[in-house]
Parts: sequence; C-alpha cells; structure tokens
Amino acid sequence: MTADLYLDGAWTSSTGTERVTVLNPATEEPVGDVPAGTSEDVDRAVHAARRAFEGWAETGPGERAKLVARLADELERRQDEITDILVSEVGTPRRVARWAQVGLGIVDLREASAAATEFAWEEKLRNSLIIREPIGVVGAITPWNYPLHQITAKIGAALSAGCTVVVKASEVAPLTAIALARSIDAVGFPPGVFNLVHGYGPVVGEALARHPDVDMVSFTGSTVVGRRILELAAPTVKRVALELGGKSASVVLDDADLSVAVPHTVRASYLNGGQSCNAQTRMLVPRSKLAEAEELAASAAAKYVPGDPTDDGTRLGPMVNASQRDRVLGYVRQGIEDGARLLTGSAEPSKRNPRGYFVEPVVFSDVDPQARIAQEEIFGPVLSIIAYDTEAEAVAIANDTQYGLAGAVWSADDERAQRVARRLRATQIEVNGGKFNGAAPFGGYKQSGLGREGGAFGLAEFVEIKSLQL
Ligand code: NAD
Repeated sequence: MTADLYLDGAWTSSTGTERVTVLNPATEEPVGDVPAGTSEDVDRAVHAARRAFEGWAETGPGERAKLVARLADELERRQDEITDILVSEVGTPRRVARWAQVGLGIVDLREASAAATEFAWEEKLRNSLIIREPIGVVGAITPWNYPLHQITAKIGAALSAGCTVVVKASEVAPLTAIALARSIDAVGFPPGVFNLVHGYGPVVGEALARHPDVDMVSFTGSTVVGRRILELAAPTVKRVALELGGKSASVVLDDADLSVAVPHTVRASYLNGGQSCNAQTRMLVPRSKLAEAEELAASAAAKYVPGDPTDDGTRLGPMVNASQRDRVLGYVRQGIEDGARLLTGSAEPSKRNPRGYFVEPVVFSDVDPQARIAQEEIFGPVLSIIAYDTEAEAVAIANDTQYGLAGAVWSADDERAQRVARRLRATQIEVNGGKFNGAAPFGGYKQSGLGREGGAFGLAEFVEIKSLQL
C-alpha cells in the first residue's frame, strides 16, 4: 500500500521527496510506504484544519455524532480488510487484531458518538449559562502498537466535540491510518476537518506540537517523548493530553483462585506480544503460593508459541521491528544478570520461524521489585513474578513505580478485591477479571500521563468551558 498525505479532503503529495518503507514484522518484506513529511506539510495541514474549524464547530453536536457513528459503521463494514492491513504492519495475530485492534477502534467511535449525544453542552448554574465549546485545532500524535485505536480514541472525541484534527501517525505503522483516512473520505466529513500527515517524530511530530495555530496536542507514546511534547507546547500554552507508558501490576491475593488468576494475568501480559501500554507485566503473588503460581504461569506461557500472525491459531506474533526485538531481549539479559530466575523463554531470538522479529514468551520469578525489569516498560512478552508477604506490602509494591496506568486484583472476596483496587494508584483496574469498558476513563496517574480517553471522559478533554452571567 502506498499513499500520500490526506489534507483538506484530498490526497496530496508531500513537499519532501523522502519516503518511509513499512516492513512486515513476520516476513521482513516491505508492505508499503508513505512520505516522510516536512514541517511545510504540517503547516498546510494545520491551516486546512483552521479554515474548517469554524464551520465544523457550528455544526450541531447531534449532526457531528451522526457522522462519527457512520464512520464506525464504515470501519465495521471494512473490518476484515483493515485487520489484514494492520496485521501486515504490526504483526498482531489476526484473530486478536480483529477485536482488540480494529474492534476497539469501532468501540471508541461509538462511545464518543453516544457521549456527544448525551453531553451537557449547555447548562444553567444559578444566574449563569455554562457553555461547552470545542477547543479548536487538535494535533494528534500516535504510536504503532494500536495504530487504529490510538487514533480513533482521539478523533472520535475531538470530532464529536467540534474540533478539527491533524493526525501524525506512527512512521512504524502508518498503513492502518491510511485505511482510516479512506473511510473518513468515504463517509464525507467536510474537507479540512480530518487531516493525516506522515513522517518522523523529530520533524513532523515536533512541528505539530509547537505549531502556534494548534490549540491542543493529544499524544500517545513513550514517557520520554511525552515530556518533550510538554516542552514544545509550553511556549504557546497549548492544552496537552498524554497517554504514556505503564508497568501495571496484577495483585493476586492469598484467597484467590490461582488457576483462574494466573492464566488471565499471563494473557493480559502477552496481549499484542506484550506491546500494550496497559500490559499486566508484574504479577504479585503471596510467597506461600509462589511455586503454584510459577507452575501455572509457565504452563500458560507455553501456549504462546510465536508464529505466523495470519494463522488463526497463533496467539503470539513477532515484535514490531528488529530494534523492538533487540530491546526486549536486552531486558531479558538484564533480568538474568540482576538475579531473576528465568522460568521460561530465552534471551535469544526465537528460531521457530525462518524470518521475522520473533521472541519466545518469558516468565521470570524471584524478581526484585526494584530491578530494572520490574520498573521499566519492556514492551514485549515478559512477565515478572514478584513474591510478597502481606497485603499491605503487595499494595506498596504495586504502587512503587513511576507509572500508574492499569492493574488487576484477584480475590475470592469481591469486597476485599475492591478495597485493594481502591488503593492502587492507577486508572483502570480489573477486579476479578472484570471486562474492558470502552466508556470508562482510560489514562495515567503519575508519569503514565495527563488526561483521560474514553466516552464522556475523553470528550471533556477537547472542550473549553465558558459562562454567560445573565
Ligand atoms: P514513541 O513515543 O516513540 O512515538 C510515539 C509517536 O510520537 C510516534 O508517532 C513518533 O513518531 C512520535 N514522536 C517521536 N519523537 C517525537 C518528538 N520528538 N516530537 C514529537 N513526536 C515524536 O512511542 P512508540 O514507540 O511509537 O510507542 C510505544 C510507547 O507508547 C510505549 O511507551 C507505550 O507505553 C506507549 N503507549 C501508551 C498508551 C497509553 O494509552 N497510555 C497506549 C499505547 C502506547
């Protein structure tokens, strides 16, 4: 697949000539290319978004919500085709990609549309009329690991709120964003309401984050780049929303059924090859049950045989590229050096497949809560088991990282599980395997981010609030 930039309702060439080649991580073959955009491209996109803003903001919320819902319908109609594109650039196993990647993108749009329909755009407060208005032009900068969902989580809310957007997709996985732009084109949003630029972070991302005509930057990616976004946005005092990294803990309490909690945690750790910001990468278990937890974790991990992501039986695809694979294996080596016990997996690339950036799933035990593998985001299928002695110690370990994105608590006693969940300094906590809810707030405490995405919480990020005193 090859495509240009989508600016002002049309496919347009970049002012630059360089292109970015996208590789299939399972085969190492090229699957497409996009322009490495320039700061002039960003300028053109921002101006298109600015010109479109007034008209779009004046369109009623009902009308906007209808268009966003139609976009969800269009993605649903093209779900298989978009899933195939996504699998070819990210390597997520197809069966998982259909619901956890593309399905999630559709949920984002439906929830944003529903939230906009019910939102309190205007309300009376004593002698005041409170009015909520779109903030303006939004720059959205997104990563490669959920290349549809991370865009739809932003644009569903921004477009429903009446903002216009310039999206800078990840240069690692930009093809899914092209499929999205084609769907937006087919649905018939007014020109300039949605614009898509491609290219590298330090050029295109920085130009967007510092652009004086951008009112808000919504960024998803690493904490390192998130800090840079804050700096770039500071001179023009832009609003900034950040969805950053995580090191989430699954806290298995001493009365929990380990035969349910442990395989569930392994699944939540390895989803999308562990390349999920909310991956449950630390499993905290009572010391008295460590041996049982280790056995269950190793046998659950054995079901994640790295293989061809287009095969419906595959649960673990490749890492997205060679540098991500090498980063993951570097952490496995680091874990061994730091004295953690490797229960399963290896610090060498997986040899089961002739090509591709595969690693074997890893489970470590006896992990020191302060070790690098327990503190830093690895972004691969690497689970650390950490033993604790008391419930208070488990809570302290769970909270003792720079992150605060997600987590889980397991107990035979729901009230106890909820009590512990309330003490975790993180946003989304699964209690006894509670299901994902696209309308619930998603985002970070501490250095996991600023702001929330999802349903009405996501919508609220993109509005200004004014009051008329009557
Ligand atoms: P990344 O931070 O390297 O890149 C994210 C985006 O920012 C890309 O589009 C990139 O081109 C751009 N970028 C890079 N440098 C930039 C700069 N100097 N200025 C502006 N833009 C720049 O992240 P990644 O490797 O693509 O994705 C993985 C990271 O994303 C992980 O840390 C993961 O935890 C995080 N993530 C967070 C969430 C969340 O919701 N909290 C969700 C998914 C991923």
